[in-house]
Amino acid sequence: MALDHTHDPAARSWLDAANISGCDFPLQNLPFSVFRRQGSQETFRGGVAIGDQVLDLAALTGASVLDGEALQAAQAAAQSTLNDFMAMGRPAWRALRHALFALLRKEASQTEAVRACLVPLAEVEYAVPARIGDYTDFYTSLDHAINCIRIMYPDADVTPNFRWMPQAYHGRVSTIGVSGQQFHRPHGQFVPPGASTPVFEPTRRMDYELELGVWIGPGNAPGLRIPLDEVEEHVFGISLLNDWSVRDIQVWEMAPLGPFHGKNFATTVSPWIVTLDALAPYRTAWSRPADDAQPLPYLESSANREAGALDIRLEVSLQSERARREGRGAARLSGTSFRYQYWTIGQMVAHHAAGGCSLNPGDLIGTGTISGPGPGEAGAMIELAEGGRKPVSLGDGDERGFLLDGDTLILRGWCEKPGAVRLGFGECRGTVLPALPD
Ligand code: MN
Repeated sequence: MALDHTHDPAARSWLDAANISGCDFPLQNLPFSVFRRQGSQETFRGGVAIGDQVLDLAALTGASVLDGEALQAAQAAAQSTLNDFMAMGRPAWRALRHALFALLRKEASQTEAVRACLVPLAEVEYAVPARIGDYTDFYTSLDHAINCIRIMYPDADVTPNFRWMPQAYHGRVSTIGVSGQQFHRPHGQFVPPGASTPVFEPTRRMDYELELGVWIGPGNAPGLRIPLDEVEEHVFGISLLNDWSVRDIQVWEMAPLGPFHGKNFATTVSPWIVTLDALAPYRTAWSRPADDAQPLPYLESSANREAGALDIRLEVSLQSERARREGRGAARLSGTSFRYQYWTIGQMVAHHAAGGCSLNPGDLIGTGTISGPGPGEAGAMIELAEGGRKPVSLGDGDERGFLLDGDTLILRGWCEKPGAVRLGFGECRGTVLPALPD
């Protein structure tokens, strides 16, 4: 994926807020969401983040500043879901990116018409950005897999298939929500410590999973594969994803068919989708230890080796109800990068389609929990607190083995390196409410 003038680190916007160092949404990012003014009855429509503003694409299509393929793309992206825009494919995505870059850069001429289409970020609310047909959650971090298995069986290794394929299960769409989602602590069956038979009660082991969400663009017909080196044409972009998980219920129910109640009560995505085009400077080499199993041919390519990984920095923090009440911020729990993942997004998508399964525009793929190799790099509480045995300090006298009611979990993501502009993903926030009474 080649760099072009839209990745030029020297390019600046006429909107000063987009040029501030550390800003999530500089001119080079241009991520997409679906939004409206907070508390209004307005129709949700597509928007692009720039600095501290949202560029309203519905307004922009009426401002006579776009034409040709970029106008058609903006009209598709101005709808209440991004599916039609996602279906258009990379040439349309790139035409709109280039047109928006030209309108927002410092040298632009029609700035007043564009300025009239801006809405402050602080005044908007979001919807899930696409009508999601199918959701699949992978399990592709070797560090996460090993951490979890060793909590239960200290000398065990991951199952033999882990190093041969990016493993996944089919998830649930009906409870996917956008950042700000609140949900009640779920009930389910689990076997309490010391008991020999299960109960049906609210979970005692509420957890989160730090993941990325991958949004599919043009799909594939049933039976037709997506070759590894063509995956980029089928991936629109990436957001943050929290695959909330309850461990006591999950452990009891998941053999042999996989998670059910343990994960289907809530999944939270961040509102902003950062495009693969924007992420091009942060592609990086992918490798596999030489003495590990090497990928089968359909999961192997030199392009995937050279630039199949993505260096996306990630951070998890928690704000307890008490911290919120006392006016304090969130406590940092962990941080890592997606670059350590054992399988790449390309391999996940190629594997997904390889058995005959069709993907469609707006489908969502979770990457699986992202845990890095070092201490403090785990993407789930079960790893950080070793199954609840070593509670994590929140720095204010409180600690957590698992999440409590009122806890707000916050995921953040960004990319930065010398010679490129820092890009942010915004945040993915969700809150655990008390269980509903029986
Ligand atoms: Mn997961």
